[in-house]
Order: sequence, then structure tokens, then C-alpha cells
Amino acid sequence: QAANKQRQSQGQEQKSFARAPKPVATANATANGQHADLSFDELGLSTELSSLLVAPTSENGMGFIRPTLVQSRAIPALVDGRDVLIKSQTGSGKTLAFGLPIINSLHRREERISRSSGLRALILSPTRELCYQIMQVLERVSKPFHWLIIGSLIGGEKRKSEKARLRKGFNVLVATPGRFQDHLKNTQTLGDTLRKGTLEWLVLDEADRLTDPGFSKQIESILDWIDENVKTEERVRTQTVLCSATLSSEVKELSNRSLHDPVTIDIDPAEA
Ligand code: ADP
Ligand code: MG
Repeated sequence: QAANKQRQSQGQEQKSFARAPKPVATANATANGQHADLSFDELGLSTELSSLLVAPTSENGMGFIRPTLVQSRAIPALVDGRDVLIKSQTGSGKTLAFGLPIINSLHRREERISRSSGLRALILSPTRELCYQIMQVLERVSKPFHWLIIGSLIGGEKRKSEKARLRKGFNVLVATPGRFQDHLKNTQTLGDTLRKGTLEWLVLDEADRLTDPGFSKQIESILDWIDENVKTEERVRTQTVLCSATLSSEVKELSNRSLHDPVTIDIDPAEA
């Protein structure tokens, strides 16, 4: 099995999974966990997207060989329109497990998504650093689909400049709960944008941290705000994904509150 792993210094334990005896030249990236037997073209993604994943990095591709196990299970369910609860260890490739179906659904429209098409996807992650990483991954895989506008609300800059970018409009937004809630209270554009009911995707990443006391109130109030302010009959269905490394009772509670008839993907770290 040709799954090449170069350990990244994420301070994680090295996991045993199928590896080629010698590194394969095209695969530069690393996933901490298992890889699937499926290939990227078997997941229901567009040909453009799946070929980008395996193209060498020298050609602006991702240089991957095959999906990780969590990607191989989550992507088909998400492409199929289901809500998904993903539990798998850190480093197993969850970002693309939700990122690919989102980009996939947005780029293959008859009528092209543009800045004025409204907010289509919201990804909430606990820290600025994590949001930034998600942004980078999404920007890389959406490079061929340059008309999709991806942005962030993570602080570290003046609220005013975030406001200005909000007014121009995003299709995909990565945000920390605190900054998002802040804008929900103080920036009329964000509320107005959400009220249009265009939100097709909601991701709660690192749910085990989002359920920490500091975040859970913010998450609750964001979810409540959406329920109260975006009228069901006027909005598209929001497909929701919850990612976590553990399934604590708090995560299960958040899952019950936010997911509709979800597919649960629970990757045991020891699974072959
Ligand atoms: P998680 O969110 O589960 O902690 P990430 O999405 O951050 O994991 O991915 C961890 C690492 O795995 C990243 O460096 C990413 O580039 C890499 N990766 C993701 N998918 C694959 C894949 N299919 N093949 C090889 N490496 C991958
Ligand atoms: Mg992650």
C-alpha cells in the first residue's frame, strides 16, 4: 500500500498504518491515521476536485495518494446531503472531510456562485490559529474555483476592517465563535446576510473544545440566533457537520441539538 507518511511535528503519536517501504515522491503531506482503500474519484467529488487532490504539488495539486479513512466515509455521506457527526483523532484529515464536500457543492453550479450569492458555508472553530489553518486548506483546494470568496472573522485585526470585508460579502466564512458573535451583535451586515437564508453548510469543528464552558454559551447563542432570525420557510436547508476527537456527553448533546438525522462516523484509532 502506497501511503507515504512524513511525520509532521504536531506532537502526536505516530500511528501504525499502511505505508510504502519507501516514500512515494508525489505525496508530501501527512495524515495522522489510516488511509482508505478507496481513491478520491470514488467519493462523488467532481473530477476537477479529485484530480487536484492527487496532482503533484509542483503542479499546484495537493500531492495526496488516497483519502484518509475518515474522508472516505464522511465525504460520500456529505455529498449525499446528510448531516454528519465525525469522531476521529487529531491529524486524521477532518478538515478536508468537510472542506471537500463544501467546495464540491459550491463550484459545480449551473449558475456560478459569486460574491453576491450570499453566505453559503459557515465554519466555526475555537481558535484563531485553527481557523487560519482551515482557511489555508480551503484556499488551496478552491484555487481552481477562484470565484468562490472565502473569508474569516477571527480577530487579530481591527473590527472595522472585518466589517468592511463582511460588507463586500463572502461565500464561505471561517470564524471563531467569539468574533462571530461579536459581529452578530455589532455588525448589521452579518445579521442581514444570514437572514437571507442562503446558508447551506454549517460546520462545528473541534466540537469537544466548542463544548468547553467558555465556548458553549457562544455556540448556543449563535445557533439560537440562527433559529430565531432565519425563518425556516425562507431558508435553504443547512447541512450540518460536527467534528470531534472524542464523543463526550456534551458533544452528543450538541450533536442532538444541531444535527438532523446524522450519519455517525466513528473512527477507532486502532482500526486497520
Ligand atoms: P484533523 O482535522 O483531523 O486534526 P487535518 O485535517 O488537520 O486533521 O489533517 C492533518 C494533516 O493530514 C494535514 O497536514 C493534511 O494536509 C494531511 N492530509 C489530509 N488529508 C490527507 C490525505 N488524503 N493524504 C495525505 N495527507 C492528508
Ligand atoms: Mg481539525
